[in-house]
Amino acid sequence: MKHVDHWIDGARFGGAGAPQARHAEIYNPATGEVGGQVALASVADVDAAVDSAARAFPGWRDTSLAKRAQTLFRFRELMDRHRDDLAALITAEHGKVHSDALGEVARGLEVVEFACGIPHLLKGGFSENVSTRVDSYSIRQPLGVVAGITPFNFPAMVPMWMFPVAIAAGNAFVLKPSEKDPSASLLMAELWAEAGLPDGVFNVVQGDKVAVDRLLEHPAVQAVSFVGSTPIARYVYETGTAHGKRVQALGGAKNHMLVLPDADLDLVADSAVSAGFGSAGERCMAISVVLAVEPVGDELVEKIVSRVGRLTVGPGDDPASEMGPLVTAAHRDKVASYLDLGVEEGAKVVVDGRETPVSGGRGNGFWLGPTVIDHVPANSRVHREEIFGPVLSIVRVQSYEEGLHLINTGEYGNGTAVFTNDGGAARRFQNEVEVGMIGINVPIPVPMAFYSFGGWKNSLFGDTHVHGTEGVHFYTRGKVVTSRWLEPSHGGVNLGFPTNG
Ligand code: NAD
Repeated sequence: MKHVDHWIDGARFGGAGAPQARHAEIYNPATGEVGGQVALASVADVDAAVDSAARAFPGWRDTSLAKRAQTLFRFRELMDRHRDDLAALITAEHGKVHSDALGEVARGLEVVEFACGIPHLLKGGFSENVSTRVDSYSIRQPLGVVAGITPFNFPAMVPMWMFPVAIAAGNAFVLKPSEKDPSASLLMAELWAEAGLPDGVFNVVQGDKVAVDRLLEHPAVQAVSFVGSTPIARYVYETGTAHGKRVQALGGAKNHMLVLPDADLDLVADSAVSAGFGSAGERCMAISVVLAVEPVGDELVEKIVSRVGRLTVGPGDDPASEMGPLVTAAHRDKVASYLDLGVEEGAKVVVDGRETPVSGGRGNGFWLGPTVIDHVPANSRVHREEIFGPVLSIVRVQSYEEGLHLINTGEYGNGTAVFTNDGGAARRFQNEVEVGMIGINVPIPVPMAFYSFGGWKNSLFGDTHVHGTEGVHFYTRGKVVTSRWLEPSHGGVNLGFPTNG
């Protein structure tokens, strides 16, 4: 059975208090079996990681931009070579199908590629002669030790939203991955070491609330990036900022697809099924609600149901599988409980995932097939709450305005999509909708690495989105220098306010 440790100071680290060390089980969601154990960090373990990062920071900060970029290029090449290995680790612990795991590695790598351009991204501004023989220029400098706390659903991609930019900018990084699927973080740590990153610049502490709380309180940690559920995101934001840290905390989501009557319903049905059930709906950008503007509801539901009936549910390591299991038994049971709730609330379950056959017959896995619930009332919990599983709700609305109102009065504002052939309607939607990431005939509008990713309302606490130029901004602090090199003679003492004379 494998044992997943921490990574501190360029090597595996078994824990500072080894005899009493806590650990958690790592499951294979496709079989329900325990595949290994993960260490759960103590306060002393977190301190060891932060100390290592703090020691490594001055040397890394002073390493030339060219050398930092070269290290990122080498890391990029190694990650590219190990795509399959990373994907296999993700499938074994998260459950998503291998092709989907490869997709998350690819999207994470895009951020590494973006961060390879750090010499350009850190260029400041320069103004000559802001006053007579006085120049001004701006520079951005790294913060020091920064931490990332990440969720189970993207064990490679979400950490890569953070650490490539943070490290390229000259910071030292401590990653606290999800304890449910921790192995990808260790492989990435090994590849950083192979790429020549100095020891201590990238550390991993495995763990739970104990590790998170210590990172939030540790005086040497300057900034915290968090991605996870809304209650924990709010807690991380409030606790981290109360301790004087810069915090960006991305939370949960409930993403709507608004279907206008002129839309191409085959495209809509393909998109809704792909975006609703990819990764078993465990994506923060998954579509979980289709808002069908009547009269298209009946025809659209029929098209969705026929496509869902053709999906193959099975173990992620079987190339025939299109959708894998959910991450844990407890999460599967919670998601499944929304089916009965939906009926109680007056909705109709038109595809019941509890009855879906599982190819390969691995019956003890955490299975729930694709589920479609129609006629979901707008004020129901099924519509309002984040379910985070393979449950697609259909809410029938009478107009664009009614659909927009439902999106804008929701708790979350992560992603949304409009499907229409009317450019004016789409433009109005992008202007009026209160959501951070918008798709126009695109169901999962995840921005490329050179844009920034983040939602509105309870989907993000803080004001800075991740990666792109906002990511560079988050992991650096600005300075403006005003300089004058004296002529042989100068004007003498002057107590007047400095103006641009
Ligand atoms: P989670 O909030 O349970 O866990 C996220 C991280 O917080 C993990 O590292 C976990 O160990 C830690 N944590 C859990 N409970 C804690 C506590 N009480 N105190 C301190 N730390 C704690 O989230 P999850 O279940 O791993 O991930 C799924 C959630 O993440 C969903 O809500 C999903 O929408 C969200 N998510 C959001 C985005 C986004 O970009 N907004 C992206 C991915 C996932």
